[in-house]
Amino acid sequence: MHPDVRKLLEVQKVDQSIAKIQRDLDSIPRERARREAALDAIRRRHDELVAGLRQAEVDARSNETSIRSADEEIKKLETRLNAVRNNAEYQATLLQIGSVRQERGKTEEAGLALLERIEALRAELVAKKAELDEAQGVFDAFVSEGEVFLARRRIDLEKVSKGRDGLTHGVPPDLMARYSKMFGARDSLAVCAVDGRTCTGCYTAIPPNLLVKLQASSAVVTCNSCQRILYLAE
Ligand SMILES: [Zn+2]
Repeated sequence: MHPDVRKLLEVQKVDQSIAKIQRDLDSIPRERARREAALDAIRRRHDELVAGLRQAEVDARSNETSIRSADEEIKKLETRLNAVRNNAEYQATLLQIGSVRQERGKTEEAGLALLERIEALRAELVAKKAELDEAQGVFDAFVSEGEVFLARRRIDLEKVSKGRDGLTHGVPPDLMARYSKMFGARDSLAVCAVDGRTCTGCYTAIPPNLLVKLQASSAVVTCNSCQRILYLAE
């Protein structure tokens, strides 16, 4: 094997470990954001229920006030009924009482609907609060476990990265740059073996002239098809 390729192969082992750790380091914050959004959605629904319940309670109180003032109005009109001097006034007052009663009936009906709504909202709120508390607990546990995991992986990263740059010593900068570019572009596999006559990176056959070069270890050989840096499987 060409000595530079041997070095790159060692670097690649390290870089693959680094890439794996990096994926973990990236995945935790992503997952955390996903879970946080789901938790926020539950919290928003919970807050909407709280606001809806509050509004319904305000409406119910104003409904009761309306009924009380209708009762007072009716009482006043009935008192007037005893004091009227002629039949026309009597009939007019009766009509007025009838109309206030009718209005009061409608208000009372609306009040009953409001009470039903309040009851339903309260039940829904209890269930939503339980769901929110549970989801919050699960989320908090994920966050603290995630932090422990991230801290461990950061230590792993530090350990794995140590000495990585020493491995590249003596590798020509242009080859190093080519390797780095391929590593990023070819799914963390920039240097790959030729098995028999096939590139194990892209499974294309290697032409005989390149095989000869590989056997001689005299030059750095790349696959014509995937551009990966090649070595002969030993
Ligand atoms: Zn290839």
